[in-house]
Amino acid sequence: MSRQRIVILGGGTGGTMTANRLRRRFDYDEAEIHVVDRDDRHVYQPGLLFVPFGLAQLDEIVRPRRRQLRSGVSFHQNEVAEVWTERDEVLLDDGTVLPYDVLVVATGVRLQPEETEGMTGPGWNERVFTFYDPEGAAALRCALEHFDGGRLLVNLIDMPIKCPVAPLEFAFLADWYLRERGIRSKTDLAFSTPLDGAFTKPIASHHLAGLLAEKEIELVTEFNAGEVDGVGGTLTSHDGRELDFDLLVTIPLHGGAPYVERSPGLGDALGFVPTDKRTLQTTVKPNVFALGDATDLPTSKAGSVTHFEAEVLTENIARYLADQELDAGYDGHANCFIETGFHKALLIDFNYETEPLPGHYPTAFGLPLLRESRLNHLGKLGFQWVYWHALLPGREIPGIGPTMPTAGKKHDPVHA
Ligand SMILES: Cc1cc2nc3c(=O)[nH]c(=O)nc-3n(C[C@H](O)[C@H](O)[C@H](O)COP(=O)(O)OP(=O)(O)OC[C@H]3O[C@@H](n4cnc5c(N)ncnc54)[C@H](O)[C@@H]3O)c2cc1C
Repeated sequence: MSRQRIVILGGGTGGTMTANRLRRRFDYDEAEIHVVDRDDRHVYQPGLLFVPFGLAQLDEIVRPRRRQLRSGVSFHQNEVAEVWTERDEVLLDDGTVLPYDVLVVATGVRLQPEETEGMTGPGWNERVFTFYDPEGAAALRCALEHFDGGRLLVNLIDMPIKCPVAPLEFAFLADWYLRERGIRSKTDLAFSTPLDGAFTKPIASHHLAGLLAEKEIELVTEFNAGEVDGVGGTLTSHDGRELDFDLLVTIPLHGGAPYVERSPGLGDALGFVPTDKRTLQTTVKPNVFALGDATDLPTSKAGSVTHFEAEVLTENIARYLADQELDAGYDGHANCFIETGFHKALLIDFNYETEPLPGHYPTAFGLPLLRESRLNHLGKLGFQWVYWHALLPGREIPGIGPTMPTAGKKHDPVHA
């Protein structure tokens, strides 16, 4: 095989894992590997949930990107301007053109708070916040410290969002935080969602709605927020319903990276890349692959998903370069710890076909599924170490892989 040029767009969770896995897989004379990212700050995004409550500091969850890449991976700190799939080239915003034999799109999502009327107007980062980026999470921490009661509204504008359980986790932790501070009785806590329940999947939704009720967090469903008044403190839905707030914590609309929209044929109307749900090859062109939040796949946008996808994707790039049939082995496997406050968490595990079920993960003797436990909370906290030291470097984790395990799951939830 002549020396191949693999260009990876995005040096976040998916791009870094893929680059490191490919570097382990190919010798230098077989492949050169390039990663492009606009900055040198790799954020451990699950840690953003804890920042507003003072449970994590930004400097604990941000590390230099370059240092996460194995030697022999070239890092380009630059904005991707456009992809010309017809010519197999990427244009960077300083005018550099990177030709490629294989392209991997891993540029995640872009937050679009400006797409909701009024959201970034007066009151933004004073009374209206998001914890989905480091600056927002830090600003919200100050606001929560000064909050002394009133109406706290947690809202998600629309799906898809990354980590669909994170807004619920925020509401659960807010309940815990306000009780610790002795101001819970002075606070109305509400969670509003465009979904018809607390979550997208019925059994988990039922469990999570139960937890919200237990913690006296009002659940407002089918609320399609259309306008924010950050001065008057009102969130208005498209059908004219109003929710008042003293503090609004919102998850803004998500779209794909703007260059995807600018690149002919690369993305759909939302800027996500049409991707085969089992092989991770895009439908754009056979030498273009995608993973993580940037795809249009019908599974959660989550780091766990990105990790499982990276395994299949690396294998398939090797097969593609060797002219072999691709492995259709990704089954949509996703899992997520859901922090519920008071040092407890739930765990959910699912794939394209199977919704989150009770039981244990990964075997009948593993972590409890859909049940609050201290063990799950410790798992959530310990995951940060696993992320930096095992997932990003591309190491295998025994027993945890792209195929969803079924051994510990109870398929008859009525009697679970
Ligand atoms: C608050 C929060 C909590 C979360 N909690 C969990 C959790 O508990 N469990 C879980 O599994 N997942 C969680 N996630 C989701 C998880 O972090 C993402 O799904 C995961 O990081 C996706 O990886 P990715 O590589 O697709 O995107 P990212 O890791 O976001 O990487 C995309 C990269 O592309 C770069 N980029 C974008 N556009 C350009 C451009 N034009 N030019 C150059 N570079 C560009 C960006 O700078 C970024 O580095 C959470 C996310 C958030 C926000």
